[in-house]
Amino acid sequence: MNIPPINLKAQYKKVKKEMLKSIHEILDEQKLILGKYCTELETAIAGFSGVPCAVSCANGTDALILCLMALGIKSGDEVITTPFTFFSTASSIALVGATPVFVDIEPENMHINPALIEGVITPKTKAIIIVHLFGKLCEMEQICAIGKKHGIPIVEDMAQSLGASQNGKMSGSFGDIAAISFYPTKNLGGIGEGGMVLSNDTALGEKVKKLRVHGMGSIPYHHEMLGLNSRLDEIKACALVAKFPYLELWNRKRIENAQYYNRKLKGLPLKLPVLKGDLSHIIHQYVFRLERRDELLNFLKEKGIATGIYYPVPLHLQDCFLHLGYKKGDLPVAEEAARTSLAIPAYPELTKAEKDYIVAAIKEFFAR
Ligand SMILES: *Cc1c(COP(=O)(O)O)cnc(C)c1O
Repeated sequence: MNIPPINLKAQYKKVKKEMLKSIHEILDEQKLILGKYCTELETAIAGFSGVPCAVSCANGTDALILCLMALGIKSGDEVITTPFTFFSTASSIALVGATPVFVDIEPENMHINPALIEGVITPKTKAIIIVHLFGKLCEMEQICAIGKKHGIPIVEDMAQSLGASQNGKMSGSFGDIAAISFYPTKNLGGIGEGGMVLSNDTALGEKVKKLRVHGMGSIPYHHEMLGLNSRLDEIKACALVAKFPYLELWNRKRIENAQYYNRKLKGLPLKLPVLKGDLSHIIHQYVFRLERRDELLNFLKEKGIATGIYYPVPLHLQDCFLHLGYKKGDLPVAEEAARTSLAIPAYPELTKAEKDYIVAAIKEFFAR
């Protein structure tokens, strides 16, 4: 049996008719960028996430950069973040000229360890970027309390957590500003690149709107500030509008798949993800940890099962950040996670037969 990491063709089938209709309409009208579909998507996601401001943009990395630019982060500033995440969480900091300050993760959820944050705060600290890794919410009460105490804004990297919530409070509504990615493999994935910034602060939201169009305000070709060209195309927005109504159903199916795996894999020498049985973890990736990670990866590959390593190199050890002076052993929990984490397919369209095949293969690996 061949099991891919994700099944985008099945998703497309569901929305093909509506998507093609909208795409034809856009091409007939030739309103191609930041039009009614972008507005519809922004309104839908703002309402869903319970925030007043949503500003679409070109991709999730730009969304993070726009968050930092809106907060005024610049050269000489420090931004605290996690080393165990996708690259752009930290590259966005460096790209606006600031210095990423990495804090080790906690061993259970592999999130930034809140207990270590205050130890690295300096007068230069101007923001904290947290990541709801693999779709699981961070300990936001604790993190927001630290931000409040020190007057440091919190940026939520919610590229993997759109729809995650705790007691009805949605991902993206906890901090000061938040970044979404609509990269095709995310839980709400588009037909190309796409991103969005969310904020509870209307002034920040208005600033992001200017920053995404070269810093222009209401008077064309008058630039109030330096900005990016980071607009979203209508064709990409209409695809997301078509898929958005399925997001909650898809997230629930991901959770069900994860719960199924946790039940079936219990007792094996694996460190399974801790699931609360609510929407606080919408399973962007189902990741467990084991010492013999690479062996299992190869075994599953031979069985036709795609796996993923998220993430093989913690960011403090990336070549491009060597000048920051971190060394192997500095952030041991993140380094261990990078060495032992393995993701197995958990996408919504996975069948029971496929899940059982994956479970049987993992059991066979340990029974050999
Ligand atoms: C995908 C991702 C991003 C970047 O989004 P792009 O749309 O690919 O630029 C940033 N942070 C995290 C945690 C991600 O998973």
